[in-house]
Amino acid sequence: MRIIIGKGNIIRRIFIFLIIFFIFMWEAGAQVKFESDILETSAGSLKITFIGHGTLMFTFDKKIIHVDPFTQLADYTKLPKADMIVLTHHHRDHLDQNALGLLRTAKTLVVLTETCAKQVRGGLVMHNGDVKTVGGLRIEAVPAYNIVHMRSQGVPFHPKGVGNGYIITFGDKRVYIAGDTENIPEMKKLKQIECAFLPMNLPYTMTPEMVADAAKAFKPRILYPYHYGNTDTSALVNLMKEVKDVDVRIRKMK
Ligand code: ZN
Ligand code: ZN
Repeated sequence: MRIIIGKGNIIRRIFIFLIIFFIFMWEAGAQVKFESDILETSAGSLKITFIGHGTLMFTFDKKIIHVDPFTQLADYTKLPKADMIVLTHHHRDHLDQNALGLLRTAKTLVVLTETCAKQVRGGLVMHNGDVKTVGGLRIEAVPAYNIVHMRSQGVPFHPKGVGNGYIITFGDKRVYIAGDTENIPEMKKLKQIECAFLPMNLPYTMTPEMVADAAKAFKPRILYPYHYGNTDTSALVNLMKEVKDVDVRIRKMK
C-alpha cells in the first residue's frame, strides 16, 4: 500500500471541488442571465441582448454596441466593453455616467444628442434627421417626442427636437430603436424596418394602443415592445393579433 488517502483528505478534496464548482456556476449564471435573439443579415448575424428597461446590447461583426447602458439593470463589469455606445436622450435611465465609465475605452465611439453632449465628453452629436456612418454602420437619427403625455400642462415629458430615436443598418437590415417617444407622424412614415423597439413605459411614452397604431402604420417585420415598465404586454399582443405581417415578440424589458 503505497498510496494511502485518508478520509479527511477525500472530504477536503470534495469540499474544494464543490467550492470551485459553485464559483464557476455563479460566474456562468451571471453571464447568461439575459435573453438574446439572433437576427440574420446579409453581413452576418446580429445578436440582440435584452438587458432590460430601455437598454440593449448588440453584437455584430465582432463589435459590441451598447444602447442606453444603465447600471441599475446589469453588472457592467461582467459585460463586454463598448466599441460603440448609443444614447437616445439625457434622462438618467438612459444616460448613466457610471455605465459609460465602465464601458468606454479610448476607442469607443459615442453617438448622442446635443443635450447628452453637455454631460458626456468626446461624443458624436446627432440631431433629428442626421444620417452618419459611424464605425462602418449607417445611423439615422429620427425624432422622439410626446404629443399627448405631458409632465404638466403644455410641457411634454420629451419635447420635440431633444431626444433621438436611431435607425441602425446592419447589412441589409434596418433596426429601429425608438427611444422615449409616442406614435408620432414621423414614426408612422418609416419604411423597411426589419426590427423595431417601441417603448411602452407609462405615463412617459406609449400605451399599447399607441404602439399598435404605429406598428400597423409602418409595419416592422419584428416588433419588440421595450422599456415597458408595468404596462401589460398582452394588451399589445391582442391588439396586433390580426396583423399577420408583424411578428410581436415579448422579451423581458420591464
Ligand atoms: Zn425619457
Ligand atoms: Zn425612458
